[in-house]
Amino acid sequence: SKVKVAINGYGTIGKRVADAVSLQDDMEIIGISKTRPNFEAKTAALKGYNIYAPADKIDSFKNDGYTVAGSIEDMIKEADIVVDCTPGKVGVSNKALYEKEGVKAIWQGGESKDIAPISFNSEANYSEAIDADYVRVVSCNTTGLCRVIYPLDQKYGVEKVRVTIVRRGGDPGDIKSGPIDALVLDPIKLPSHHGPDVKTIMPHINITSAAIKAPTSFMHLHVLNIKLKNECNAEDVKSLFASRPRIQMIADGISATAQIIEFGRDLGRPRNDMWENCVFKESVSVDDGELYFFQAIHQESDVIPENIDAIRAMMSLEKDNLKSIEKTNKAMGIGI
Ligand code: NAD
Repeated sequence: SKVKVAINGYGTIGKRVADAVSLQDDMEIIGISKTRPNFEAKTAALKGYNIYAPADKIDSFKNDGYTVAGSIEDMIKEADIVVDCTPGKVGVSNKALYEKEGVKAIWQGGESKDIAPISFNSEANYSEAIDADYVRVVSCNTTGLCRVIYPLDQKYGVEKVRVTIVRRGGDPGDIKSGPIDALVLDPIKLPSHHGPDVKTIMPHINITSAAIKAPTSFMHLHVLNIKLKNECNAEDVKSLFASRPRIQMIADGISATAQIIEFGRDLGRPRNDMWENCVFKESVSVDDGELYFFQAIHQESDVIPENIDAIRAMMSLEKDNLKSIEKTNKAMGIGI
């Protein structure tokens, strides 16, 4: 029988994880939770997901014409594993409930690294999550960094990573975030947490980062400078990246995040999701033993396949990370 997955928090990440789980043959969605009967509840109902709500909100859903399957507690009781996709720092308040019901749980990158003993990336440390009860899938930026640093470190040895991250101010549907017209040093004190967060997965990596928030909603952009231990040239790095399952080499005249999103639309991808790291092929260069390149990270979607692999590891459905990655990729259409 399929693994029963509950989605607690059906927003940007939650709705994508729900759809990705539904595409797999070894797991299924038993329900999603919504706190308010808004348009996302409407699309969840149209997709046929069972909707659960906080006990004191069930009546407001019913008044708006929704069928409610039960309370969030009821949903957790039904599940083998819950993917907590509530806003950052909210997920921690659900931990006691998951522990009480004896259900496995995955949190997202907005939670502190202390929420779970394991921070997760499919390529870099899948095996640590096998049979684990609690895992944190790291943030969109950390996931994007791990996907390039891990294979480089395996093949050439990484001496030092320096990254500057131009962050999107808010997601496309977000009407509260900004800036509208500024570049915000966020944080002003260096380093930002993004680089050091890579160490929760690869503790030996020497990395430092800076981050700037910009008035854009499409993607994050990373400017990377990596000092390698062993010699290589740009062509070596390009073929290494092209061989990885979740890196897409971006070319064909694309030199902006907006064009990548348009490319995703033209490919007919769901919600124009670009799940892979988008490495700008022409930018890859090696100078004096140091590697430089740009990559764009689609913040809304790159962590989604990692959540699927984390479920597979934690439920011991697959012990080999590359097999899980391949299965997830195939079901979702990643790499096409
Ligand atoms: P979001 O605000 O889009 O969605 C969160 C959802 O949870 C909303 O539907 C909200 O109504 C619901 N919610 C709030 N409190 C709840 C509660 N107590 N119980 C159940 N549901 C509740 O947030 P998001 O962008 O999807 O982020 C979720 C997590 O994923 C955060 O940890 C975030 O840092 C992380 N993350 C976000 C992105 C991104 O770019 N959006 C990328 C990677 C990781």
